[in-house]
Amino acid sequence: LIAEMQPIDPSGAEIGRTLIVFHDVSNLRRAESLRSDFVANVSHELKTPLATLIGFLETLKGPARNDEQARSRFLDIMLTEAQRMSRIVADLLSLSRIELNEYQPPEGEADLKRLLASVVDGLTLKAEARGIVIRTPDPSRLPRVPGDADELTQVVQNLVDNALKYCRDQAVVTVSAEIITDPALLRLHLPHPKGVKAAVALSVNDQGPGIAREHIPRLTERFYRVDTARSRDLGGTGLGLAIVKHIVNRHRGKLEIQSVLGQGSTFTIYLPMDSAPAKAA
Ligand code: ADP
Repeated sequence: LIAEMQPIDPSGAEIGRTLIVFHDVSNLRRAESLRSDFVANVSHELKTPLATLIGFLETLKGPARNDEQARSRFLDIMLTEAQRMSRIVADLLSLSRIELNEYQPPEGEADLKRLLASVVDGLTLKAEARGIVIRTPDPSRLPRVPGDADELTQVVQNLVDNALKYCRDQAVVTVSAEIITDPALLRLHLPHPKGVKAAVALSVNDQGPGIAREHIPRLTERFYRVDTARSRDLGGTGLGLAIVKHIVNRHRGKLEIQSVLGQGSTFTIYLPMDSAPAKAA
């Protein structure tokens, strides 16, 4: 709390009366501290791969100058680290673009059938390489929804990709969909249920390690990971679920996460099927 004292009469003619104004700056301070934490996190995330790159470049210029074998191994590591930095920067750019528009309803329409088919097509090779089967829902359950097709593709892509990343080999990843019209369920699962007659629930279930209860509320924070080393090894940036949350918010939807340790996790997004009501002029 900041108190500010001002003489009531700026000329100072009337002595002895003062106006004290209290400003509650706790929200401002919280926002400032979140911002500086974020900058510190970004710097740290980029510093690690950069330090590796510099280290290997120095070795290649110096002691390993004539070592053909070391050279090819180091170049592979350097490429991996540079690709990691590039993914972090791409995810940060996505996140800042989405946040900028978060309170503007998206325009257009997204066909969930096409969108899911393209995500699954893109990930089939990766799944097959580890003997994982991706099951998809009956296409009749996948409606068109008002929204930005590219952003919603990114949501589904991030969820299916996480399921693949964290599940064991030979597992089954199941994408399911359901259309909800029951008003009680709409109220339960949508942040702005007013006027909405139907929503679609799209779930991605994996048979992965599951997530301990205490981590679940924090998974959508930027750079929050349950196991940082594992996420890094798997090529994660720690930003995927933050991106999912902001896109789903923008679509007036909700992300829900259920997980049982040792059995797997289900990430469900609820999206309204009716356009957002037009704003009163
Ligand atoms: P990352 O790039 O690390 O995967 P995300 O934001 O997508 O970042 O996810 C944050 C963290 O949530 C992950 O590091 C992981 O610990 C956990 N997580 C996400 N999806 C799953 C899943 N399907 N199974 C288990 N843990 C998961």
